[in-house]
Amino acid sequence: MNSRPIPKLMWGAATAAHQVEGNNTNNDWWAFEQAGRVRFPSALACDQYNRFREDFALLAKLGHNTHRFSVEWSRIEPRENEWNEAALDHYEEMLLELHRLGIEPVVTLHHFTNPIWFADKGGWLNPEAAAYFARFTRKVAERLKEHVRFWITINEPMVFLYHGYCTGLWPPGEKSFASAVKVLPNLVRAHVAAYREIHACYENPRREVWVSISKHMSAFSPFDPKSLKDRFFVFLRDWFFNHLFLEALMKGFLFFPGLYCEFLSSGPTLDYIGVNYYSRYFIKGTTKGGSTPLGVDSQDPSHPEHTKEQNFMGWEVYPDGLTKVLLSLKKYKRPVLISENGICASTDPQRESFIQRHVEAVQKAQRAGVPIWGYLYWSFLDNFEWAEGYGPRFGIVEVNYETQERKIRPSAYVLSEACRKWNEQILQSTDQNRS
Ligand code: BGC
Repeated sequence: MNSRPIPKLMWGAATAAHQVEGNNTNNDWWAFEQAGRVRFPSALACDQYNRFREDFALLAKLGHNTHRFSVEWSRIEPRENEWNEAALDHYEEMLLELHRLGIEPVVTLHHFTNPIWFADKGGWLNPEAAAYFARFTRKVAERLKEHVRFWITINEPMVFLYHGYCTGLWPPGEKSFASAVKVLPNLVRAHVAAYREIHACYENPRREVWVSISKHMSAFSPFDPKSLKDRFFVFLRDWFFNHLFLEALMKGFLFFPGLYCEFLSSGPTLDYIGVNYYSRYFIKGTTKGGSTPLGVDSQDPSHPEHTKEQNFMGWEVYPDGLTKVLLSLKKYKRPVLISENGICASTDPQRESFIQRHVEAVQKAQRAGVPIWGYLYWSFLDNFEWAEGYGPRFGIVEVNYETQERKIRPSAYVLSEACRKWNEQILQSTDQNRS
């Protein structure tokens, strides 16, 4: 199954289980929704659990050669150490269908949701959290290894930690930086343990495999470029939110001033770097009034440097930021896959232009020497946007939530066209290098 050559440019789109599958009744997000902690429940979402064949046919129609999706821990392990073989069969069927269509899967193991039994045991504050996650990873990797070469262990660990433990907007709904700082090393340990489990599964017989996280990276600018304090807090933000986790995985130890320094592994545990990029924040250098002691962020469109373009949720559209964050990854000497980049737009032409400009921003970084593997748009389908519910529409494919009808948006073709052209350029330049 995995003997197909890896595409020179991996391109396509991404989703996550809880946002598209529907009826994920066994996880902490579902419980949070039922308790009325967010305005809208996920309910049937896009019903992708039942409609994946129809959906994957659309991917093939659009020419995608790569697709990222996540497996749902709470379906696979609904009760502690009890395995739902039917759920594993289901994910295997999804993988077989992607391969049949010639599409390379990228599989995420943790995309924000946790089984209820795990949350009841203290979730990511439990010192055993990494061991539970490693056991789940072993089970999944053992079962699916023949069909998967690209894994993402944890999606956006710092965003998960920020909204789960600092803003309290997501489960478990805590607002305590002290708790967040306790969760951080558990997430790092969980990745390291999962990385080892996956590699061990691929040893005998040896199969090729690449493991990463999806790292959310934001662009940060000082609110007042003349203020030393604002500039210092931009440095702090960039270090804490963008690089701390990556550095821990590359160096094998986690260092957090005054709190701890822990050795985790003898070598790097990132085979490539998955990057999710959306927007930029202006940072004020104050410790008061924010959800963390790392300054206060704003996306105020009246800021003189703001591009004056926003998405449906008010995030600044800032393609240059993507080039900047990609350039900052050069030091890790790892291939980079844009595992998410996208816009919830009120009009599709805005999405078309967003895609065009962000693909160019990635190509710019590539020309400057960043080893880019590919680009995955977020998202394939309109879907459940966490605490924001179903209002924001990120999809290159529109979903009618009443009828579950899918409609390809024109921006989907813009993505295909931009990536096809880019792919041709790559092929031409490799030919030139050969001759
Ligand atoms: C997450 C997605 C989310 C998207 C848009 C990313 O941070 O991985 O789950 O839908 O951003 O907010």
